[in-house]
Amino acid sequence: TSVLSARGLRARYGGFTALDGVDLDVPAGRVTAIVGPNGAGKSTLFHCLAGTLRPARGSVRFGSRDITRLAAHARTRLGIARTFQQLAVFPSLTVTENVRIGAEQGRVIDPGAVERALRLLGLDGPVRALPAAGLPTGTLRRVELARALAGSPRVLLLDEPAAGLDSAEVAALARVLGTLAADGTALLVVEHDLDLVAGLADVVHVMTAGRIVASGPPDRVLDAL
Ligand code: ADP
Ligand code: ADP
Repeated sequence: TSVLSARGLRARYGGFTALDGVDLDVPAGRVTAIVGPNGAGKSTLFHCLAGTLRPARGSVRFGSRDITRLAAHARTRLGIARTFQQLAVFPSLTVTENVRIGAEQGRVIDPGAVERALRLLGLDGPVRALPAAGLPTGTLRRVELARALAGSPRVLLLDEPAAGLDSAEVAALARVLGTLAADGTALLVVEHDLDLVAGLADVVHVMTAGRIVASGPPDRVLDAL
């Protein structure tokens, strides 16, 4: 069943149409990927789902609730978490503080959820006490993901989560996303590199020029390109 869905999304920047009627379902227990070349509209779609951009037309639903006009922070509190392409960690805070404080956003966070997130991302060792400044990119991405997970979201929106990771780190990321999907989380990954999502996603939607032009399992979609 679809947790997050979009119908007929249109978005414009001035006279330029960036989303030209996008329908999307993000089901629970699956990793859904949006791929496509630069300029296809992936970030614009991501922003419409995360609440950082209002579509000119169409709707976004969370379950049966219309959230098209709901602000980003309110979506977070409902259980729609996101990561950022540009790492958004506090450099002087420790890994644990980054995960806890980053997840709070005016909410009370279950300390157990913080611990689970740290453990799932392998951040429960000595690294948890280190300041985020100076940690390698792969570790910072894990901090970022743990922060999003510490709020126990039902939907997780991931903006290019594999960017800057080596192949071992991508494989580790795939395992984490698989674990979350198995627990029933609805995951959406936006990624320009089709090869990177091949091992991550259950369903791939290909975007070109503001539309979804192909959808299916990664092997079938890859073959068709
Ligand atoms: P993608 O994430 O697939 O690279 P984007 O959603 O970032 O695509 O952009 C889609 C199109 O909209 C591109 O042509 C981009 O240049 C344009 N665009 C994105 N943001 C803006 C903006 N703030 N103002 C004007 N044009 C924009
Ligand atoms: P991202 O797609 O992750 O936001 P980009 O580097 O593509 O990263 O864009 C950075 C910022 O510039 C975004 O806020 C985006 O909306 C904006 N932007 C992208 N393309 C254009 C454009 N053609 N004109 C104006 N702003 C743009």
